[in-house]
Amino acid sequence: MVDRPSPEPAGLGRRSFLQLSGLSAATVALGVTAPASADATPRRPVPSGAFALGVASGDPVADGFVLWTKLAPEPLALDGHGGMPPYDVPVRYEVAEDERFRKVVRTGTAIASPELGHAVHPQVRGLRPGREYFYRFRAGQEISPVGRSKTLPTGPAASFSFATASCQAWYHGYFPAYQDLARRAPDAVVFLGDYIYEYGILAGGNLWKQGVTVGPEHGVEIETLEQYRLRYALFKTDPDLQAAHAAAPWLHTWDDHEVQNNYSANTSYYGITPEMFPYRRAVAYRAFYENLPLSLNSLPHGPDSQVYRRFDVGRLARLNLLDTRQFRDPVPVDEADRLSETRTIMGPAQEKWLYDGLKRSPATWNLVANGVVVTAVTDDRVEQWDGYPANRRRLISAFEKTSNPVVLTGDIHRAVASELKADFADPSSRTVGVELVCSSIASDGDGAETDNYAKDWLQHPYVKFYNARRGYVHATLTPTELTSEFVAVPYVEADANAAARTVARFRTPAGSPRLEAL
Ligand code: FE
Ligand code: CA
Repeated sequence: MVDRPSPEPAGLGRRSFLQLSGLSAATVALGVTAPASADATPRRPVPSGAFALGVASGDPVADGFVLWTKLAPEPLALDGHGGMPPYDVPVRYEVAEDERFRKVVRTGTAIASPELGHAVHPQVRGLRPGREYFYRFRAGQEISPVGRSKTLPTGPAASFSFATASCQAWYHGYFPAYQDLARRAPDAVVFLGDYIYEYGILAGGNLWKQGVTVGPEHGVEIETLEQYRLRYALFKTDPDLQAAHAAAPWLHTWDDHEVQNNYSANTSYYGITPEMFPYRRAVAYRAFYENLPLSLNSLPHGPDSQVYRRFDVGRLARLNLLDTRQFRDPVPVDEADRLSETRTIMGPAQEKWLYDGLKRSPATWNLVANGVVVTAVTDDRVEQWDGYPANRRRLISAFEKTSNPVVLTGDIHRAVASELKADFADPSSRTVGVELVCSSIASDGDGAETDNYAKDWLQHPYVKFYNARRGYVHATLTPTELTSEFVAVPYVEADANAAARTVARFRTPAGSPRLEAL
């Protein structure tokens, strides 16, 4: 939990009560918990259908996870408030060991307030490690759908399964990949960025998804908190996305489109002034927090948010989630700038945090989830780690002393499997780890088996697989191997029911990480 100054509550009486009850005013106002009196206060009406955006869980640890929902009976209401009246609503939650809630093990209440778009993020603790739980919410007479979550294991866990996903441009297609992912119900889902896109959505332009229309309010690039909220709501109306959230805990990081295409720290790619861009970041980061199952540690403070963080899956795996947007140096002005030794995509503090965490890791597998491709492809891909070669050398040299590094990436809307080389310029150099790049869920529409970019990637002997269909990655870790499956769908624009199939499988042996085609 974050320890920081809380906003002054209204009146000393309320403040004293909160202090006596052991709750901080901040965690009440932030939808994490509620004072004991919340269940007794007179209820104001909760509109029917308040759980239209579904439920989610995330940031799992060994004894708990964060639960999430956001009350929105009319998700697409123009003001971004989802049709909720402008008052606080207590939201009750239950966590059970069984799907029918016969064995409820935790209950509690969080306050959904208009300030946070009526989102709640209760943090459930005190559960048992490595096991499945079910949860649901109640607000007034409204009862939510049931979600499934899972705590992380402790000790020498025998296996852990996860999926990676990214880039869900709602307007480019349906989400059949999520239908398949939800059926698989992995132990966790790692989301790698581009949960929303900020672009205007225009019929006859980028609205490729068949059978849907959107109002003119969606036709402009989003800029305000209300617009970001409405954009998340639009994407979250998708039933397969809701099903995937309800199927497993998610761990989120972000890329550029959660704010604006190709931004770097405080530099807009489109000339928004350095005075205005922090405002844009602040509202975008705020909407990101409101809409996802993140812990209070990731609550933004103005234009800053703590999104890089790590999770230990017993001694089997350590998962480091990176933030490769908030601290990156801008696009290089010339080749000398690109090659500068001081250039960083992570920022110095995050680099130190990562290298320390890798060095001290007790885990067999060290996963690094990040927004953009690490593998060397072409020097002009300056948005990827190709634009930050000095930072990549520091990362690779940390990997050389790390047990089984595995990089998880999205962003390119293509599926790629590659081996990470000690020196990418020398293909005979040692393989230090692997990178698994998931394709997009919907961005770029139907796609094809291959495309014009394939040769840029496949020219390198360390790139073992390339596919330009939509899809996701499903992976299973054991103490001796990582099995990765690239799942693809044949189309997304026509409807949501395209059948997913596995288009490639690889085995990565522990102790000698590389890609062996299965
Ligand atoms: Fe994308
Ligand atoms: Ca991106």
